[in-house]
Amino acid sequence: MSDITVKYINARLTDETQYRIPYWEARATEKGPCLLITSALHGNEIQGAEVLRRVLPAVRAGLQRGACLFVPMANIMAVRRRQPHIDFELGHYYGSDNINNVNCAWPGKADGSNGQRLAHAFYQDLLPQATHLFDLHCYSRCWAAIVYARTGNETSLAMARACALRFAKHGFWKPEIAKRPIFPCTQSDLFYDTGRTGVTIELSGQYGFCEREVRRGVRAVLNCLRLLRMLPGEVERDDPLIWLNDAQEVQVAAPHSGLFMPVELNTSDPVEKGMLLGHILDDRDLRETPIHAPVKGYLHQYGVIRGVGRNIVFDPMTIMHPFVTEGETIAVITFGAFSSALT
Ligand SMILES: [Zn+2]
Repeated sequence: MSDITVKYINARLTDETQYRIPYWEARATEKGPCLLITSALHGNEIQGAEVLRRVLPAVRAGLQRGACLFVPMANIMAVRRRQPHIDFELGHYYGSDNINNVNCAWPGKADGSNGQRLAHAFYQDLLPQATHLFDLHCYSRCWAAIVYARTGNETSLAMARACALRFAKHGFWKPEIAKRPIFPCTQSDLFYDTGRTGVTIELSGQYGFCEREVRRGVRAVLNCLRLLRMLPGEVERDDPLIWLNDAQEVQVAAPHSGLFMPVELNTSDPVEKGMLLGHILDDRDLRETPIHAPVKGYLHQYGVIRGVGRNIVFDPMTIMHPFVTEGETIAVITFGAFSSALT
């Protein structure tokens, strides 16, 4: 049995209000990796908090080496405000804002924006101890869960495989183009570029919990703890893993405008060629059009999402609305690349 203690990171807002971010710490007697798991660095991406709550009993019962630093609500002020960043207004950029987006702000600034101050507090208190990072985020529910790893970082790639999700992607960087680290950067880049390792996961679904996704997250974390020999047992794998770097995809476009009603499928599910994906009810003449899968593969995107990417105006309500215009992508089916040099 390992003791789990609740500890705190101290941060302060731009108005100098102090606040504390609680985290769980467990340490084994035997030396080993120090795994930092951050969840909800974006306050609307909260599924990882439940993942960590469920993983904790296994750590308490069986941590055999190293240390765990689990931060279920890393951006706790944004969580309390039920929004992505501490300072956030609808219509502001979500992803590419490297002033307010804590995920783009590492190593942060002691006297910067609220997001930069939060990154700085982590950078001072937790990052020096951690050797491995597991950063838990959530995409919109129309996008499948995915794990991101660093090309050439063998432990990162092994952790990505151990996550046992359907989709994975590895990212390159070219040392001849730029010397790393380049600040500000993401937390994961900071780890990779300072000789450490880890993965970033995006589960499917923001602003709430989805049992299927939480279970995916629990399996991914437990598997990584086993891979690192911090917990006993073997890595559990079942589904084929698709490296998106090498995969092919087919986008399914809406043939006309209307309301897209999906069937009982979820992101990451397998689909057969010709399988019914849903219907579009035409807003002009009420004709209905069935939508079929043009190829066999796996659902990388399922449902309508618009305004995504790095330069978007973010409105969580309208981007999820099922009214589609002609030509809009309503599903993306990915196939191939089950095995590559990396698997
Ligand atoms: Zn995020």
